[in-house]
Amino acid sequence: MTDSARKSYDVAVIGAGMAGMAAALFAAQRGLSSILIGSGGGLLFASGLLDLLAVHPVPEGRLWSSPYAALAALAREQPEHPLARIDPSCIRAAFDAFVSALDSAGLNYAPLRERNSDVLTSIGTVKTSFGVPTTMVAGVGALDARPPCLLVDFRGLREFSARQIASTLADRWPKLRYQRIDFPGFEAVPEVNAVHLAMALEIGETRGRALALIRPLLGDARVIGLPAVLGLGRSREVHAAFEAGLGVPVFEIPTMPTSVPGLRLQGALETATSVHGVQRRQASVRALAYDGSTALLDLDVTGGERISARAVVLATGRFSGRGLTADRQGVRETLLGLPVHQPASREAWHQRDFLDPAGHAINRAGLRTDAAFRPLDASGKPAWPGLFAIGSILADQDWMRAKCGSGLAIATAWAALEQVSQQLRGSQANVSAR
Ligand SMILES: Cc1cc2nc3c(=O)[nH]c(=O)nc-3n(C[C@H](O)[C@H](O)[C@H](O)COP(=O)(O)OP(=O)(O)OC[C@H]3O[C@@H](n4cnc5c(N)ncnc54)[C@H](O)[C@@H]3O)c2cc1C
Repeated sequence: MTDSARKSYDVAVIGAGMAGMAAALFAAQRGLSSILIGSGGGLLFASGLLDLLAVHPVPEGRLWSSPYAALAALAREQPEHPLARIDPSCIRAAFDAFVSALDSAGLNYAPLRERNSDVLTSIGTVKTSFGVPTTMVAGVGALDARPPCLLVDFRGLREFSARQIASTLADRWPKLRYQRIDFPGFEAVPEVNAVHLAMALEIGETRGRALALIRPLLGDARVIGLPAVLGLGRSREVHAAFEAGLGVPVFEIPTMPTSVPGLRLQGALETATSVHGVQRRQASVRALAYDGSTALLDLDVTGGERISARAVVLATGRFSGRGLTADRQGVRETLLGLPVHQPASREAWHQRDFLDPAGHAINRAGLRTDAAFRPLDASGKPAWPGLFAIGSILADQDWMRAKCGSGLAIATAWAALEQVSQQLRGSQANVSAR
């Protein structure tokens, strides 16, 4: 049977967001045959920054310069948080493996150290994150030293205003200037799209014309910031050409969604999983049942399709991913009806103040698991020995406020896959011993 015709796998991963992609990658790296089922998740909207943990405790909004110090505090003070249940050495290994796979797929991140970095956002605020794409790194140093800096944006790119960033930071960064230019070839277009600009800058001639427009504006600028449009699949090459062409460090600033860095991340993860032999099905899983030690997955495709797997990783996300749904009765897990840890009543879902820094209880609802990341049934036991749950569907975390979205996805994928591979190796050993 060819790999593409194969219907039986060691691991089936349901959901192709950050968590599912990471799980499929880690499964394949461990030599397990794996299939990733689902279409793109929240990655399209992601900034490209890989948060590990920046804020703890959430109600205090305390920012940490070391994510590992923050993780140690989390482990002491909030041991039920999924990240608190993973050894930091595993989290380091997970990030190293993830970033190294992205690097091989042509998407480079600055070397991971023990510290978070501050990155400029498209509204002039500062975001604290862990993994920073190489194209954004010069902005980290610039934000710190605040040298003479030129921000350039493009007429018609509605989601990004260099002027707004400069005016927000005017008091703190007096030598920050801005200029707006017409994007070459799009002069007559009233509204331009970041993805189109990124693709256009992969063409040498357009890039040359853009550089020719920016060069005379340089003045005393020692660094230049641009919206994140420096190439789509070839950002390394486009960024290097901008730095060479302008003679100063150049940094990208993430834009509002749809985000070019998010698309790059999705593209690189698709390449990395494919290179490692992960099979991919752009479909939804309609039903999941168990036959002894085998899981049977029915896909929502014309004519139907059934896949079997020895282990299943549920990475179906929260409400936007449709892993969880809410109605008058409460929050439900969509695929299997697994028990969802949630407030006792709807009245307790939200704080009275929508902007309450403590966040809302509904954002911490989700699946509770055992130490091996197996979701629990109503009796508090693993629902099925070979079923694992990872990423944002997990309870007891508020990834947006804690700024730990990618960390939660990548680290829980790693931890679950360690358990999966131990479990499958164990069952293999039992079969061999018989
Ligand atoms: C607006 C936005 C900004 C972000 N910014 C950052 C950031 O700055 N830093 C950072 O670290 N991270 C960021 N992220 C990414 C974030 O880390 C991850 O998206 C988040 O952790 C959720 O990942 P997930 O894989 O658990 O869920 P999701 O991304 O929601 O993926 C779940 C997937 O499962 C699929 N699915 C659900 N049910 C089924 C089914 N039955 N069959 C098949 N597939 C199914 C869904 O369609 C979806 O594709 C951002 C995300 C968003 C949305």
